[in-house]
Amino acid sequence: MRRYASQKPQELGGGVWSVPVPIPGNPLGYTLVYALESPRGPVLVDAGWNHPDAWEALRGGLGMLGIDVADVHGVVVTHFHPDHAGLAGQVREVSGAWIAMHEADAALVTLIHGLDEEAHRDFQAEMLRRAGAGGDDARVPASARPVPPARPDRTLRDGDLVDLPGRELRAIHTPGHTPGHLCLQLGDRLFTGDHVLPDITPHVGIYPYDRTDVDPLGDFLMSLEKVTSLGPLTALPAHEWIFPDVAARAAEIRHHHEERLHTLAAQLTAHGEPLTIWEIAAMMTWNRAWDDLSPMLRGMAAGEAAAHLRTLEARGAIRRVSGVDPVRFQALDS
Ligand SMILES: [Zn+2]
Ligand SMILES: [Zn+2]
Repeated sequence: MRRYASQKPQELGGGVWSVPVPIPGNPLGYTLVYALESPRGPVLVDAGWNHPDAWEALRGGLGMLGIDVADVHGVVVTHFHPDHAGLAGQVREVSGAWIAMHEADAALVTLIHGLDEEAHRDFQAEMLRRAGAGGDDARVPASARPVPPARPDRTLRDGDLVDLPGRELRAIHTPGHTPGHLCLQLGDRLFTGDHVLPDITPHVGIYPYDRTDVDPLGDFLMSLEKVTSLGPLTALPAHEWIFPDVAARAAEIRHHHEERLHTLAAQLTAHGEPLTIWEIAAMMTWNRAWDDLSPMLRGMAAGEAAAHLRTLEARGAIRRVSGVDPVRFQALDS
């Protein structure tokens, strides 16, 4: 399945190019940055991880395709994660390009800029405690605070046209993986960011774990439906490889999560007693045994577990036990 290990900068036809930008030390391997031709200079979809090697790969890869990074007109970021937004600031510095992202992710960027190291650690520690994490799982690593991404110059909403002179690049709001995730439609092609990938499914978590004001997995499932309704467009994802028929893959991912929701509800019914988010995460199936997951991966698994619990709760399939700390969940009829 590691077909993506051999990716090279490519001309894809129709004034679209792709450049793989490595993500050092990450099993995903790289981010596919796309360059879209325009008379005012190319517009990039995503920019890659902020690291000197990644910068060289982006600059050199664009150069191989005859594109000078100093000519870039704008960078539209599918979402604020560092493997997508990381280098946007550096591209802007050398080219004067604008940076655009959805307003919901722009708000998160502002939030990250406003949190100092200590506030971030306190937030994480309290979040883990309320989810029932213990031992090493409850310890917040020293360098937990992400490097804040560059602040955008422009924000986008669902249906907006991106400033790509002479062409129609439409922003499609697909919340779930992040609240402001965007897919971008250009004719019969869809830049899918992390929303729809050909082999893996993106991380969908809820943070803090016990929030009741949002339902990221519910949003994600709706965003998959939204993409399905666009028809069998060719997907140009930010990781792995380009694939046909985004609608078919989106339907497959929806099915995967519906099955997971069903299994989780059945497990809670079988167990009877209320469980903490940590206990529930340990009970679920992951790509490795729970005991083999690092504290960081357990934290992400708990985020996924919490997102599934929140969706089941929002559908009225399970309940949150009131007045207990840490928070616990239980089947309705227990
Ligand atoms: Zn992401
Ligand atoms: Zn990504």
